[in-house]
Amino acid sequence: MENSLKLFIPGPTHVPDDVMQSLTCPQIGHRTSEFSNLMSTVIEGIQEVLYTKNHIYLASNTATGLWEMGVKNSVRKGILHSVNGSFSAKWATVSKECGFNTEILNYTWGLGVKVEDVDKHLSTGKYDVFAMVHNETSTGVMSPLKPIADLLESKYPEVIWLVDAVSSMAGHKIEVDKLGIDFILSSTQKAWGLPAGFSICAVSDQFIEKSKQIPCKGYYFDIGVYEKYYAKMQTPSTPSIPHMYGFKFVLEKIKKEGLDNRWNRHIQMAENTRSWAIEHGQGLFPEEGFESTTITCIKNNLGWDINEIYERLLDRGFRMDRGYGKLRGEAFRIAHMGNIMSDDLNEYLQNFDEVINV
Ligand code: PLP
Repeated sequence: MENSLKLFIPGPTHVPDDVMQSLTCPQIGHRTSEFSNLMSTVIEGIQEVLYTKNHIYLASNTATGLWEMGVKNSVRKGILHSVNGSFSAKWATVSKECGFNTEILNYTWGLGVKVEDVDKHLSTGKYDVFAMVHNETSTGVMSPLKPIADLLESKYPEVIWLVDAVSSMAGHKIEVDKLGIDFILSSTQKAWGLPAGFSICAVSDQFIEKSKQIPCKGYYFDIGVYEKYYAKMQTPSTPSIPHMYGFKFVLEKIKKEGLDNRWNRHIQMAENTRSWAIEHGQGLFPEEGFESTTITCIKNNLGWDINEIYERLLDRGFRMDRGYGKLRGEAFRIAHMGNIMSDDLNEYLQNFDEVINV
């Protein structure tokens, strides 16, 4: 059955029938060569999308678990978190709850992460890890990675860099090896366009070495355990095999589309959505230069009745986002990533126009 509602919320995103069906393959034993073949196909595909040779771990938990993996395997002295929205704030909470010396570089929602601020904090020498969210899903703010990469390479090469790319990975070009990202994570329900409940990360050699120096990381997120099984192309515990089949299918689709075409499609959809908002007299919530390519967060300058629009779009088969948490009504988001094509977006914007003109 075709999904009755098309999702324009920033996760879970729209999953078309062919992708859903790809998850319905028969189960296989996770200690078999058949499984290892499947896993290596998936890993090689992900490495291509991320422009990396780093090890890729497949995790049958959501990205929130990988936040914990990132910090538990890297922090000794202290961790600096840039916080510019809800998800980056939650990640900082994870570090605090794990008992780490945690410092927050705080920004008003809507602002992007600035390299000079990161430099100022790291120059104190108090932190051996820096964590940031590339694409703040709550605010539609994308913070460029290149300036941070240059800073870390030139001044703080020993600092471990953790990047949450949950709502940008597979929708935005991220050259992991060139940027030198030590740990980058994502879950499946955003630009990968798969159902929720599974996540992945890419880990650098430096990250793996650092982890070896850290005692008492628990078991489930200890990457020493992941490494042991990775050597056999297996996961430490019984994984969500349907998600792996889904990944295989989606990676084939991405290959057919072509990586550059995929990145351009997302840029184009973002530009169209921004223009649509501006032409209607609305504003953009992110500060200029930090607008996301996968989510547009629109400042509701005109005071549209978002709940009314939501209901009307629902009647037409679309699930709209009304704004994250405290932003509800004040700023709303349009997700244009993963399986959303330009035609889908145009159809949505056309319907949006019709319901606001009723
Ligand atoms: N990080 C970001 C930027 C997110 O948008 C989300 C979820 O929306 C998460 C982390 C948490 O991901 P998950 O629900 O897969 O744990």
